[in-house]
Parts: sequence; C-alpha cells; structure tokens
Amino acid sequence: MVDWEGPLTEAFERAMTYLNGLPERRVGPRATSAELRQALGGPLPTGPTDPREVIAGLAKGVEDGLLPSGSGRFFGFVFGGATPASLAADWLTTAWDQNGAMYASSPATAVVEDITADWLVELFGLPSGTSVGFVTGAQMANFTGLAAARHEVLRRAGWDVERDGLIGAPPIRVLVGAERHNTVDRALRFLGLGTNCIVPIAVDGQGRMRADALAEALGEGPQIVCAQAGNVNTGAFDPAAEICEVAHAHNAWVHVDGAFGLWAAVSPSLQHLVQGIENADSWATDAHKWLNVPYDSGLVLCAHPEPLRASMSLTAAYLIQDQNGERDSLDYNPESSRRARGIPVYAAIRALGRSGIAEIVDRCHEMANRFAQRLEADNVQVLNDVVLNQVLARFGDDDELTRRVVTAVQSDGTCWMSGTTWQGKAAMRISVSNWTTGPTDIDRSAAAVLRIRDELIRS
Ligand SMILES: *Cc1c(COP(=O)(O)O)cnc(C)c1O
Repeated sequence: MVDWEGPLTEAFERAMTYLNGLPERRVGPRATSAELRQALGGPLPTGPTDPREVIAGLAKGVEDGLLPSGSGRFFGFVFGGATPASLAADWLTTAWDQNGAMYASSPATAVVEDITADWLVELFGLPSGTSVGFVTGAQMANFTGLAAARHEVLRRAGWDVERDGLIGAPPIRVLVGAERHNTVDRALRFLGLGTNCIVPIAVDGQGRMRADALAEALGEGPQIVCAQAGNVNTGAFDPAAEICEVAHAHNAWVHVDGAFGLWAAVSPSLQHLVQGIENADSWATDAHKWLNVPYDSGLVLCAHPEPLRASMSLTAAYLIQDQNGERDSLDYNPESSRRARGIPVYAAIRALGRSGIAEIVDRCHEMANRFAQRLEADNVQVLNDVVLNQVLARFGDDDELTRRVVTAVQSDGTCWMSGTTWQGKAAMRISVSNWTTGPTDIDRSAAAVLRIRDELIRS
C-alpha cells in the first residue's frame, strides 16, 4: 500500500503548529536569502528521499523565510489570510486532483463552480445571467474581462479580432483613471493593445476618476472604460454610476477592477460605495484577498456571455465539450487544464454566509478607522479618507522619516506593512484585510508604530 499517511500526517502537524502559532508569531521573515538557500539548497538530488522526511525538511527549511500574511497584525499589500473552511477545502482540492477544464474532466468541479458562480453574482448584486470565471487573481481577471471588452467593441466596429487579430484593426482607446492598478496596463500589453492605447483620466485627491474628465475624453469609435472599485492606496471608489452612464452613452464597454473593493457590495453599511456598479459590463475581483481564501483565487464576472465565450472558448476534436448546458470552464477563463479553484471559494461562502462575509468587511473597515484614530491622536498624518480598509500614514510630514519608520516597523516584528508614494508623498500603507484582525491587534500595532517613530526621532 502507498504510504499517504506519513507525509500527510507530517504536513498536518506542521500546518497545525504554523496556524496555531500565528497569533503570537513574529510578523515578518527572520532569515536572509542566503540562509534560506543554505537551509533548502544543495546539489540536485541524485536519488529518492522518504516523502515524510522531504515534508519535514521542507517545512523546517522555509520556516524563517515565511511572511506570516495570515497574522491578524499583517497589514501588508492587500493580502488577507485563509479561513478554516476554505483552507481545508483547498487541501481536499489537492487530494482530489481534479482537472477543472471541463464538465467531462470533473463533473463535481463544474457543478460546484456553477453553484458558486450564482452565489457570487447574488452576493455582489450583479445582473442575473452574469457569468463567473475562476482565475488565478485579479491580474488574470482584468485580462479576461478586457479580452471580452476587446472582442465586443471591435465586433461593433465590424471587426472579428479572434479571427483577424489586431493588425489592421480599428484602434481601441482605453480610458482609465490615472491612479489605476498597474495590472490593467499589463493586461493591455498581453492583449496586444499596448500601453499607448491608454487615455489616462484625471483623478481627485483620493485617486477617484473624475466623471467630468471622462465625459470630456470619450469620443467615437471602439473604446473601453476601466473603472476602479477600491484604490490600492486609499481604498477610494471611482463614481461607478456616473461612469457607466456616460460611457454607455458613448457605446463604450465598462470594465471594473474591484480586486478587493467589490466586496463592499456585500456590506449593507458600505454598499453605497459601489452604487451603480451593477451597470458595468465586466468586473474583476479576488477571493484570495478579502474573502480570505488561500492563494490563488481570482474571479472574473461578465454580464454578457457571448463576448466572453467568443474571446475565451476552446474547441478541439478530442475535447468532449458538454452538449447539455453543463459548465466547461475553458469557455470562461484563459486556462485549459486548471486547478478546481472554485471549490475553496464554495467552502468559504458556505461557512461564512452573507452575514459572515459582511461581518469581515465591516470589521476590517472599523479596524482601519481605529488604526487611523490611534495614529492621528499622536500627531501622525493620515493622508486619505478611510472609506474602506486602507490607511495612508505619514510621519513628521517627512519622506525620509516615513520611509525609516516603515523599514524599522518591518524589522521590529510586531506588525508588518509596506511603504508607498501617494501623490508625490511617501506614506506607510496599512491594509486591513485579514479575517482575524481585532481591536487588540490594532492597539498593539499602533503602539509599536508610535514607539518606533519616537525612537527614531530621539536617536
Ligand atoms: C491586488 C490588485 C490587483 C491584482 O490582483 P492579483 O490578485 O495580484 O492578480 C488588481 N487591482 C487591484 C485594485 C488590486 O488591489
């Protein structure tokens, strides 16, 4: 008999130690890359090693190089952690090792993803009939949504981009706020549109696209408007209702990058931020950020099944695609063989329910405000309106001091956050997106940040 038990028991025990240790673990890596190479490297293995030993050695070797993003005091980037149900479902997804490409390659995956897709559309309050593709992240969700957009705006101009490509095609203009996420630019590169197609639209002090500036820039011909729900620095939202109205009046497709911000739609008290977003044509978001599903897990939603299918679908004589209306995921996303990544999303939604998801979003919002208040009470400048989960803190109105505080906080280990530059000013970027973060985490972290600032000023 195959010994599954040895390596899996080892993995289980190591995982328990890691997860149970998170609340008190130092929030930051301890090892240098040289130390990690030393612990993990060596010559190419010339022969086999016992799997359990491999797992034990691997876990030991990476230990000091892990960035504990599952900690309640991890505020870096917009990462989020993993909830118990989604993590356990992710393990099973691996054990089942399903190829999620088609109904025929995994009927259970197709059905689970179909059910989850309907739940997501309802959760976000999007039009019924909106389709959902399970991709690796918002980067690929932006790519996929913009591929559908590219198809549709060119089809309206009488051009078949899937057949004829872009050489000789009518030019497409992509109107997007100056404070967009750079994955939008990258998606446009992948799509052969190049970054020169971008028409940057002026933003306000919070990074929101100005609808009046958009109205002025819209013209004739194929055009795509890319709005943002949740600016990666400030958390601010582009005015979706106005954007959709003016863009559609000009026959443009509206894609929304809502990597984390789209989840505001689930919270009755924050819903107003996404008002009108349901009028867009496609949306990108992440499950691995605010839903706290393990990496990797992105979602692309599209109100128009045809353009999405036209841009993504794959047919080949040997592929048994389903004739009975069952879900073949290769019609919804750019992958062929793929992980059944809808399964952990299903488990996350089942375990939390609508109220549980709203509670995470609301608590993170509340905790972001608490962090901002703690800092402001002690002379730290907060550069943004804390509308969601993001706080931009600046120390002594000084770029250098601000950067030094960020670096020193990272090596202190109480909490972890990264730095950024917001509209020309250095800032500490605090993102609250972990499902376990509570008041004690905030108070401990804010106290550490203030102590470190004081030490730096005194030294
Ligand atoms: C994180 C993020 C992305 C990219 O998402 P990935 O999950 O890293 O692919 C895109 N847009 C915004 C606004 C984001 O916050």
